[in-house]
Amino acid sequence: MDVNKLLTEINSCIDCKDCMEICDTYMVTNDELKSPNGRLKIAEKVFSNNQISEEERISLYTCTLCALCDLTCQQEIQISEIIHSSKVRLVEENKAPLEIHNKIIRGIIEKDNSVGGNPEERLNWLPESYKTKELFEKKDSDTLLFLGCMSSFRVKESALTPYKILILAGYNFKILEKEPCCGEYVYSAGNLDVAKKIFQENIELFKKIGVKNLIVTCGGCLYAFYKVYRKYFKDFEVNVRHIIDVIYDLEKEGKITLKPLNKPITYHDPCRVGRKYKSGLLYSEPRELLKKCGLEFKELTTNPEESPCCGSGSGIRGVDSSICIKIGKELFNNIDTKEIVSSCPLCVFNFRYVNYKNQMDKESKYITDYILESIRK
Ligand code: SF4
Ligand code: SF4
Repeated sequence: MDVNKLLTEINSCIDCKDCMEICDTYMVTNDELKSPNGRLKIAEKVFSNNQISEEERISLYTCTLCALCDLTCQQEIQISEIIHSSKVRLVEENKAPLEIHNKIIRGIIEKDNSVGGNPEERLNWLPESYKTKELFEKKDSDTLLFLGCMSSFRVKESALTPYKILILAGYNFKILEKEPCCGEYVYSAGNLDVAKKIFQENIELFKKIGVKNLIVTCGGCLYAFYKVYRKYFKDFEVNVRHIIDVIYDLEKEGKITLKPLNKPITYHDPCRVGRKYKSGLLYSEPRELLKKCGLEFKELTTNPEESPCCGSGSGIRGVDSSICIKIGKELFNNIDTKEIVSSCPLCVFNFRYVNYKNQMDKESKYITDYILESIRK
């Protein structure tokens, strides 16, 4: 970490405050400490070795790292990266993360998942009829469908429907009998040492079982494997793709046929499948697929890169769930369809949580639910 470079970047802020208008956590709290500009000021203290208050420490940890603010800054300050770096610095000084993050990180180390799930139940999404045929690591394939903690435990249809679609298309892939966590949660919490250890163990596992291609269902896994692993392990050369990217090609090749479902939905671009992943790559593919499923879909924004945050990234719910609920409510208030679709199980999970808390009569689904329904029609 080049502290001088970070401080120069922070000090290039001209206090125009443009970034504040786009930040969901600021919009719903009206608290400057919970804005990009406020968090930059906290980061400045962190890197200048000045004390920060408990309120300031919590403000860093209520940032969802959604990267919306990075789009607006005329000084081209990578605000979300700086916020993340300040968390890393606090962890190095034993001043972070918060106890809730430590608890979840202990859970990841002990149970290999970030949601407190029983490891024995990780494959509960897989029906018995498939389980008996599944060869797991022994299957002769260099492509691994990596489901991740949210799909495996919390939004199980986002594990099952991608699996079934790949089987229906005759795609050669395997899954793990004992899947680990990708480590994104630990990385976002700023615990770089533990995160790098998880990355290394996973890289070794992939090498051992001959994985050259990874297909993921979760935005967090995509972001971790595609961007973060490569940042620390330059020789990590596994080809990483989101399931939608793969299904898009399968449809083009005629391996699956989609039939109209005829209903209105709103599509939500997850930050870690969109602007935090690779600008533009996964904006058109989900839309084209949804159109081919005959879904009349509404947009949340005119520019998908500016898609609002679902409100749940980087462990914010454990720190202040009221912020997630308010962010989700704002988002729901701006859509006029009953159903909202996302390509990330964490977003789907948060939308369901927000709906339950606010009783708004919305339904949230993972994108492959519609694709499988459309194939079967
Ligand atoms: S948009 Fe950039 S320059 Fe303006 S206040 Fe935010 S960080 Fe500072
Ligand atoms: S990354 Fe998102 S939540 Fe964090 S300061 Fe920027 S806009 Fe706000």
